[in-house]
Amino acid sequence: MKEVNGINLENIHTPAYLLDERLLVKNLDLLKRVEDETGAKILLAQKGFSMFHVYPIISKYLAGTTASSFYEAKLGAEEFGGETHIFEPAYSDEDIDQILEVADSIVFNSIAQLGKYKEKALAAGCEVGLRVNPEYAEVEKDLYNPCIPGSRFGVTRAVLDAGLAANPDLLDGVSGIHFHCMCEQNSDTLDHVLDHVEEKFAEYFSMDSIKWINFGGGHHITRPDYDIELLEKCIKRMADKYHAQIYLEPGEAVGLNTGFMITKITDIREPVEVGDGLIVRPAILDASAACHMPDVLEVPYKPEIIGAKEPGQAAYTYRFGGNTCLAGDIIGDYSWDHELNIGDIIVMTDMAHYSMVKNNTFNGLRLPDILSYNNTDGIKIVRSFGYEDFKNRLS
Ligand SMILES: *Cc1c(COP(=O)(O)O)cnc(C)c1O
Repeated sequence: MKEVNGINLENIHTPAYLLDERLLVKNLDLLKRVEDETGAKILLAQKGFSMFHVYPIISKYLAGTTASSFYEAKLGAEEFGGETHIFEPAYSDEDIDQILEVADSIVFNSIAQLGKYKEKALAAGCEVGLRVNPEYAEVEKDLYNPCIPGSRFGVTRAVLDAGLAANPDLLDGVSGIHFHCMCEQNSDTLDHVLDHVEEKFAEYFSMDSIKWINFGGGHHITRPDYDIELLEKCIKRMADKYHAQIYLEPGEAVGLNTGFMITKITDIREPVEVGDGLIVRPAILDASAACHMPDVLEVPYKPEIIGAKEPGQAAYTYRFGGNTCLAGDIIGDYSWDHELNIGDIIVMTDMAHYSMVKNNTFNGLRLPDILSYNNTDGIKIVRSFGYEDFKNRLS
């Protein structure tokens, strides 16, 4: 691959994450349309995408950020502006004061945490919300399902009722309700989730003191087959019924299909038969699944490579692996009509979200450069990493 979307790749120092700002703006246009058409506010969930170099672009479209830790909240307040929201599974005495300095809105995950920090949060001028758990989700993998039995996320109806029985003032000062039950899903799932959330919590949504409802993340709004019309119906349904400001906080949908992993082949080994007559050539890349795209191993999934076919479909099949000593650091099998060579550039798609935020220097591998492209500036090297970045995380 010598170019992608008209961007010349030949002089890129690999490995690198390359964000195409034109694709980001396309996603943001769509998200802004949802905000304009429904009155909902959309927050960037920084857990999925924290490339703050482009926060000045994103902040023209979205209302603010949400964070899952003090550092993310501080980053959002410093680099994005707008509204700074936070949800943490449990706040600590060590962090709470710093959090309340930067956050406009704080969501608590349990009755005990709400009781412990509510007054402090209100005194700091922060809006206070409670995360509820409707005990319903359509997420198949437990790793990504916050509503499995025994989940540590949100307050179930039974727990909330018991909390109120013990302390009738529990919800005084609480102005919002938050739930997050989705992962990479379409709006039909949201529609079902809302049915369950309402069945369990409608009487709480109806309280005069509740001013906002946050639908969490996991909305795959920017993927081609996403049903925007139904999303807008869902938002209006809840906004009208409960006279509430609706928030959505997608991470993935902001960065979806906006970035690439640019990597080079550093070695190609002898062909071997691996079963069913399939002959593969193990090849080593200067990028690693374990270090630079851990979701490939964690989800797991096989990234799309531009120009490649399925294994065995074309004459030459390659098994791409990373440059670590972890045997399972395998990206996947791909085939081409022609032979590949050492030094060839390989381009993986959809590498902007849950990549940079999750990478690591395991095995002493260098972190990929972070690049950004726009029509005015061309390719910009936003940041490159070296030995010090590895050393500074150790002692
Ligand atoms: C992870 C998370 C998000 C963002 O989820 P995406 O799948 O990236 O849209 C939003 N809110 C909460 C509470 C989360 O945990």
